[in-house]
Amino acid sequence: KYEDIVSIIESVIETQKVNTKIHQFHLQKETDKTTVLGDRDKLAQVFTNLISNAIKYSPEGGNITVRIYERGNRLCVDVQDEGLGIPEEALPNLFTKFYRVDNSDRRRIGGTGLGLAIVKEIVKAHEGEVSVTSELKKGSTFTVSLPLVALASTEEEERDNNEKYAHAHVIIVE
Ligand code: ATP
Ligand code: MG
Repeated sequence: KYEDIVSIIESVIETQKVNTKIHQFHLQKETDKTTVLGDRDKLAQVFTNLISNAIKYSPEGGNITVRIYERGNRLCVDVQDEGLGIPEEALPNLFTKFYRVDNSDRRRIGGTGLGLAIVKEIVKAHEGEVSVTSELKKGSTFTVSLPLVALASTEEEERDNNEKYAHAHVIIVE
């Protein structure tokens, strides 16, 4: 289905906000083309996992900035925090099931190590990509990119789109 990424992210931020008093949330919308094809609940899960990580791994608070922009024919969403950061050697394993960074600065922070593996699966099923850049003690930025769809302006275009993206309706998450 056609979904507006902005409305999905706004509702995730509203829900996550209540879990913290020490973080400021910023939503920066830099493009008007924000329609993607996909599953609203699954996409909400992606941003819930990323934003809850941003909260959890910045125990001293700070800004959490979500930036929505266009690159080529893709819609990109950055989720940026000012938290603990991720050691370089951990980056290649980050999206692997059950992988957790074992550092003295985060040993007390709980989790199962599934959040990012789920993010990767859902994003992949939407023909998107997820990547991360990070600096220890400075913060992390996770970027999700998804194929942008031109909103159909005629019925014929809509039929074409529905055909073209028919497979996008089937989303499998283990
Ligand atoms: P779960 O999400 O299943 O509750 P988790 O948060 O440990 O557990 P993931 O979300 O998959 O699992 O994250 C994997 C690891 O990556 C985490 O243990 C954490 O060390 C690191 N990590 C993830 N997001 C961030 C972030 N925003 N800042 C710093 N480290 C992060
Ligand atoms: Mg997590």
